[in-house]
Amino acid sequence: MSFLNADLHCHSNVSDGTLRPEDLAVRARDNGVDLWALTDHDEVGGQHRAMVAALAIGLPYLTGTEISVTFADKTVHIVGLGFDHESEPLVKGLAETRGGRERRAQDIGDQLAQAGIPGAYQGALRYVGNPDLISRTHFARYLVEAGVCGDTNEVFRHYLVEGKPGFIQHRWARLADAVRWINEAGGLAVIAHPGRYGFTPNEEYALFSEFKTHGGVGVEVVTGSHAAHEFGIYADMAREFDLLASRGSDFHSPDESRIDLGNLPGLPASVRPIWDALAHRIRQP
Ligand code: AMP
Ligand code: MN
Ligand code: MN
Ligand code: MN
Repeated sequence: MSFLNADLHCHSNVSDGTLRPEDLAVRARDNGVDLWALTDHDEVGGQHRAMVAALAIGLPYLTGTEISVTFADKTVHIVGLGFDHESEPLVKGLAETRGGRERRAQDIGDQLAQAGIPGAYQGALRYVGNPDLISRTHFARYLVEAGVCGDTNEVFRHYLVEGKPGFIQHRWARLADAVRWINEAGGLAVIAHPGRYGFTPNEEYALFSEFKTHGGVGVEVVTGSHAAHEFGIYADMAREFDLLASRGSDFHSPDESRIDLGNLPGLPASVRPIWDALAHRIRQP
């Protein structure tokens, strides 16, 4: 079978990316992507625009989102693909999941002020493209602008992760609910970038098993959020747990993202690509 350049994970300014859905569609096409999904955090507000833009330039499209979940007291991301983006349980579930972000952002701003960085909440708001979706990334961009750090990665390391002054513990959706919203909307659920969570082997085993129990079917193997050595590790996990494999850049911004749209190695031959199971959900130009 010939290589398919599928990129099924990226962000627009409807969540914490910097480009509009329409700009991402063109960038994906120009980079040689053959199948594209926009997966904004906790949002499907950009789906219609992304789909129309993609189809207009001949790019096959799958609907997508990336849901924030709390599992074992840590944040885990679950990508949904190929769902009906007007499904009521999904739209309602995502709205609830987003709901806590405003309060959390104010708390992050207060804590940063106590750490000697005033005005961060107002500053972050200037980077927000969707008032419903203020994220840590918007704070990171403001802190770079304010000269507190040289780049957004450094802001996360020093200010926005657990144990640092701007971190606020937050409860996101439950794993079972996130998978159910996706499934009820006719889509497939995928564990996003499992290599990023810092789980112990036991915690990781629990995540994969419970995810399957709830009806999840996929895992990201090749992602811009994995180091190269993790591609093989999660290809093995995909086989061990009989999960379909996904692939995506997790592109956010030309200025910040290491990996551009479509610019990834192919999936290892040992795994089954998730798009084989989504053929009937792909919107063709
Ligand atoms: P939030 O959903 O508000 O907690 O923000 C999560 C987002 O922050 C992720 O989707 C990434 O885009 C970004 N992020 C998380 N950790 C890092 C990091 N270490 N460096 C850069 N960006 C990060
Ligand atoms: Mn993000
Ligand atoms: Mn993620
Ligand atoms: Mn992402």
